[in-house]
This record gives sequence, C-alpha cells and structure tokens, in this order.
Amino acid sequence: MSRVLLDCDGVMSDFTGYCLDIIEDSFGRRYTPEDVTQWNFGNLLKSPGESATFWAQLKLAGVAAALAPIVDSDGIGPAEAVRAIRDRGYSVYVVTSPMSDNPTWGYEREEWLRRVAGVERSNVLQTPAKHVVAGNFLVDDNQDNIAAWSRGMASVGLGPSAVGLLQDAAYNREFAAFSGVASEVTAVRVFRWADVFRAIEAYS
Ligand SMILES: [Mg+2]
Repeated sequence: MSRVLLDCDGVMSDFTGYCLDIIEDSFGRRYTPEDVTQWNFGNLLKSPGESATFWAQLKLAGVAAALAPIVDSDGIGPAEAVRAIRDRGYSVYVVTSPMSDNPTWGYEREEWLRRVAGVERSNVLQTPAKHVVAGNFLVDDNQDNIAAWSRGMASVGLGPSAVGLLQDAAYNREFAAFSGVASEVTAVRVFRWADVFRAIEAYS
C-alpha cells in the first residue's frame, strides 16, 4: 500500500476563513485564524443565539462550493500538493467528513476537489469514520481524527506503517503531545506542504 489520505477542510479548503467571514457579517466582529483557539469556533460565538445563527449559515447550499483553496507560505495549493504526492509514488485519497444537514455539501465537495485539487470522485471518501480508511499517511487538522485513525490502523496491524500528520492550527496547538495516538503510530505536526513531503520521504 502506498496511499496518502488528505483531509479537506483546514488542509486544502479554507473552512476557517469562510467561517470568520460569517462571524464578521453576522456579528460585526473580525477575527483572525489565530483567534480560533477552540474547535468549532466555540470561543468566538458568544451566546446560544449566535451559535444557532452561525451554524444555520453552514447548512445552506453553496458553502462547500465557495470555500477558497488554502495556499501555504511557499505558495503551494491543493493541486500542486496532490501532484507532488503522486510524483512520490503515492495514490491520494481525500477523506472528508461532510457537514451534517447540508443537503448539497457532498456534491459540491466532489466538484470542488475535481476542479481545485485535481482529485476525481473515485478518490473521495466522505465520511466521519476516517479511522476505518487504511493508508500510510493521514494529513488532518483535527487531532481527534489523527488519534482515532492511529488506533484504527493499529487495530488492524498497520500501526507501524502509519504516520499521522497534524496540520497546525491555533485550535489544535495544545495537543502537542498527541494524546490518544496509538504507541506504534508516528505522529508529526506539519505547518506547510514541504513538511508533508519531507515526512513522506522520511517514513517511506
Ligand atoms: Mg479538517
């Protein structure tokens, strides 16, 4: 198996940026990605009413299609990254958890990945159950996904060949110790695509 699994939101698509625009448009407060120190924007939404307003806008048609691609500090975006991983002899699968109760999310995500990242729908898995998807590497910005996936790989004997790459973000920074990651699985924090390429070369 030579397979790299990529998360979409927070790795290829700028979900955080879109959400910060919603918060500014709805509540008049501008935040930066560094202000998002809690998963799901919990520290920025000030009341149950704000939360309800915020999440309702993420259930609308067009959100998944409208997300901007993330371009890293070296100028590398999703298409270049996918190409560079394939050039290293790995197949790329996008494993992405769809927004619940958004009826058009799945279709729009497939279209986005084909158009922006050059990944066809045959290589897109939309599920929150990332831990059942076997691969050598998982790049994800959610430390819980890295931990659960590591345990999933370990449970089927693939732990020694599994490497979790946690895409750095303000909301996952307190998890430097990678708590919950299976002991036989390597976990590394990455900041840009060059770190991912380096890890692939180091752990292949
Ligand atoms: Mg993500």
